[in-house]
Amino acid sequence: MIDTTNQLHAHDKHSPFWQNAYLYFDRAYTTMHLDETWRTVLSTPKRVLTVSCPIRMDDGRIQVFTGYRAQHNNARGPFKGGLRFHPSVGLDEVMALAMLQTWKNALVDLPFGGAKGGVVCSPHKLSITEKERLTRRYTAEILPLIGPDHDIPAPDVGTDSQVMAWLLDTYSMMVGHQSLSVVTGKPVSIGGSPGREEATGRGVICVLRKFLATQNKSLEDLRVAIQGFGNVGYHTARLLDELNATIIALSSKEGGIYNENGIDITSAQRYYHENGSLADFPDAEPIPNDELLTCDCDVLVPAAMENTIDETIAPHVEAHTIVEAANGPITPKADEILRENGVTILPDILANAGGVTVSYFEWVQGLQNYFWSLNQVQNELQKVMDRAFDAVNAKADESDCDYRTAAYTIAISRVAEASRLKGLFP
Ligand code: NAD
Repeated sequence: MIDTTNQLHAHDKHSPFWQNAYLYFDRAYTTMHLDETWRTVLSTPKRVLTVSCPIRMDDGRIQVFTGYRAQHNNARGPFKGGLRFHPSVGLDEVMALAMLQTWKNALVDLPFGGAKGGVVCSPHKLSITEKERLTRRYTAEILPLIGPDHDIPAPDVGTDSQVMAWLLDTYSMMVGHQSLSVVTGKPVSIGGSPGREEATGRGVICVLRKFLATQNKSLEDLRVAIQGFGNVGYHTARLLDELNATIIALSSKEGGIYNENGIDITSAQRYYHENGSLADFPDAEPIPNDELLTCDCDVLVPAAMENTIDETIAPHVEAHTIVEAANGPITPKADEILRENGVTILPDILANAGGVTVSYFEWVQGLQNYFWSLNQVQNELQKVMDRAFDAVNAKADESDCDYRTAAYTIAISRVAEASRLKGLFP
């Protein structure tokens, strides 16, 4: 028996973020008949760092922001995972997301472990110069943990290619040479990969298409509701629209819009960019965020934050399929209710793995200083996503289980095997 009292996850056993991530792991692990002693090793983060970042604000005040970097498991390769700027970021949240990232990277068979970082801030309330100073200070504070062979951050909620450019520059200045592969999701002009920005959305489409094909259905005329209109939500909506699906509902944090005949995505994106919200968008009716999740549609795509579909929402979901474009949008209780109601869930570690897959391509390109065309990136992405979907689909058939359990089983067994083969140090 392993004593868990001093382990990192024991401190956060009551946090819903950590609990949900752990429950999904534990549910699959229990069915796998693996050695019990590895259960704690595999679920405990390897390293967690908390930093404080004092920044001079534009009005002369000094404000201190808290940041985190959690590294979950690196049995299969360097740590890799996003960096989030959001007011609700916390230690347990980054630990949970780092664990999810370990399973995601293993599922799509990338040579990476899982990590996640975050800074507690409201990025939209910071000026561009304040955001730059915060990014640079956070990078300097986590410097001992990151590097192209150690831990490679990428964009997530509230961060973008500009934030990655500042991170790259700060790291390069501190180590004394340009180090392209310390970060992915950079602008293409400074070593980013074509196709990275849209990659998560494109991956969502690959997985949804493959699933629909198993049901002899196609994207055409599918009625889709999308929660969240940031990087992932927008590109998912745009690509679905291009493939003749009908986007009937869209939302951002401030509220949603609905039009049963379909929303014009190009106009909605322009409007969102100009106004910072979708409120009062012409040619659509307003819809509250909760109602979007339960509206009459074929496919629901949560592409915003964690735990937005809980046990109060789940019984009212009308979609036959949910594609988890966001990380952890469905709580374990809601997951159970949805499965009982016959809703198919394409889980986050499969559905949104397109982003980290193209990040892997970007890392490889940076290491080799040899850059690919957009066409090559899109073709390689499609191959990785198709292979991952086929493996999960076959596992679900073979074990007569849901897609999440199948995906976790494949991912955990890959990480468990790498950990077992490497053994314990010392
Ligand atoms: P983003 O910051 O670009 O966009 C987030 C969007 O969600 C915004 O439109 C915001 O207004 C909206 N939102 C927030 N709370 C909401 C709510 N309660 N209801 C409706 N909308 C809400 O972030 P992103 O990069 O698009 O990430 C979205 C999700 O996808 C996150 O869970 C993230 O971890 C996950 N993800 C992102 C990537 C990536 O490449 N960016 C990769 C994999 C997974």
